[in-house]
Amino acid sequence: MIALPDSTPLEARERHTLACLVDASGLLIAEGAARAQAVRLVLTPGELSGAAAEALLRAQAPVQLLCRDGELHLPRTVLTLAADILTRRHDGASAPRDIHGRPVSTANTLVRAEVERWPVLSLLARGIHDATVAAAGARPCFTIAPWPDGKRWAAALSHDLDVASLWPAFTGLRLVELAAKGDIRRLLSVLGGAAGRLLSDPIREGVDTVLDAEVTVGARSTWFIICGTPTFASFLNGDVTYSPESRRVKKILARLIAEGHEVGLHGSLETVRDGGRFEAQRGRLEALTGRPARGVRQHFLRRAVGVTERAMGDAGFAYDSTCGFADRNGFRSGLADVFPVWDESTGGALSIEEAPFCWMDRALSKYQGIEAPDRWIDDALELAGRSETVGGLWCGIWHPNLIPALGFPGAPAAYARLVRELSSRGAWLAPLDAVVRWRVARRSLRAMDVSPEGVPTMVGAPEVLRFAGASFRVCDRQGTLRATVATP
Ligand SMILES: [Zn+2]
Repeated sequence: MIALPDSTPLEARERHTLACLVDASGLLIAEGAARAQAVRLVLTPGELSGAAAEALLRAQAPVQLLCRDGELHLPRTVLTLAADILTRRHDGASAPRDIHGRPVSTANTLVRAEVERWPVLSLLARGIHDATVAAAGARPCFTIAPWPDGKRWAAALSHDLDVASLWPAFTGLRLVELAAKGDIRRLLSVLGGAAGRLLSDPIREGVDTVLDAEVTVGARSTWFIICGTPTFASFLNGDVTYSPESRRVKKILARLIAEGHEVGLHGSLETVRDGGRFEAQRGRLEALTGRPARGVRQHFLRRAVGVTERAMGDAGFAYDSTCGFADRNGFRSGLADVFPVWDESTGGALSIEEAPFCWMDRALSKYQGIEAPDRWIDDALELAGRSETVGGLWCGIWHPNLIPALGFPGAPAAYARLVRELSSRGAWLAPLDAVVRWRVARRSLRAMDVSPEGVPTMVGAPEVLRFAGASFRVCDRQGTLRATVATP
């Protein structure tokens, strides 16, 4: 249990970052009478020293923080550096762009320090947790279980439906890519496979293969569907290449909904240029699914950092999942967790949450030249292990068009292995919307008092607890259950 400092002297983005770190730590925040019994978090002054930055950016282990009886000391310099990372000071609107208009990954502080493959801010949050427990002494010390159903970490499988019509064109593009790499063996295998599929529906088969793999472990996933109108220009751009009202997409949506998967919007170039278009595209999707679309991810990860997220929030989306790297895998925000999006222009948090992804199938094949699907999966599992270490969220992107006929022999079997391994490692496999709703509600919990028997009096925000979907368990440092917060 932790009592937060008076945040008046802090810059707004430092306040935001401190709230995100304490949230990620899983510590129960004390308010009211409970504050007197909690460990006090104290920000210690000092210039940004190389040592503080190095401690944070060394990664690979929780940051060691000073603690003494009843107090945890967090250097302000560490908080400032964490705020630079989380609010994307070097990786946002001012960063140089790649050919798709995205901030280049090499502008990111964590990439520059070569630690993007570690969730460094989640590790800092773990450090805050461990030091608080150590500083508690005889005081009551409570932690909220990180995920529902006794799970210690979460994994979200997500899919962008980029291809749903004219599939031979995509096979052709992939053949050109393989030829440029001189991968003749794979090229011939793709040609043979595609020729044999001309009269079938490989796109539907790709979707079914993904869903069948998930059914075997009872996982539900998140699907992002493009809802623009295809034109000759949008096809040439690789932007909008199908109509969501087409028969094939409608049938795919029917299976997704029947099996309890989440359907969100895959925003196109149109929504980057004009954020006002989000609302129309969202409405178009909801008309097809008959349910609210709460999540969004931009196609090609194209966005105007800050501007696009604000437009997403204005259009009523609850979360975005565009934050991540296109050309490498890792934790772009430093957090393996859900957090409110920072808005530099207003100096406050937006109403929309970020559910960052840390792994994408094509990052290795398209940008790093690695074509063996099993190596992509090894990479995914390495990052999943790091998310598990911090009790966090691993979110990965798998494109259902990665099938032999479209140029990716061996990919479906590799995906099935990923799903099996995430499940066997005990992850809470849930759609992103369920993850976000539960985490937002957990964030609202507070201890207002502690009884002589050591039971905290819990309160939470009713408007978000209503949608949490699963109850919350509050345990003491021995792991004994001390309180449960039920949801309606
Ligand atoms: Zn896409």
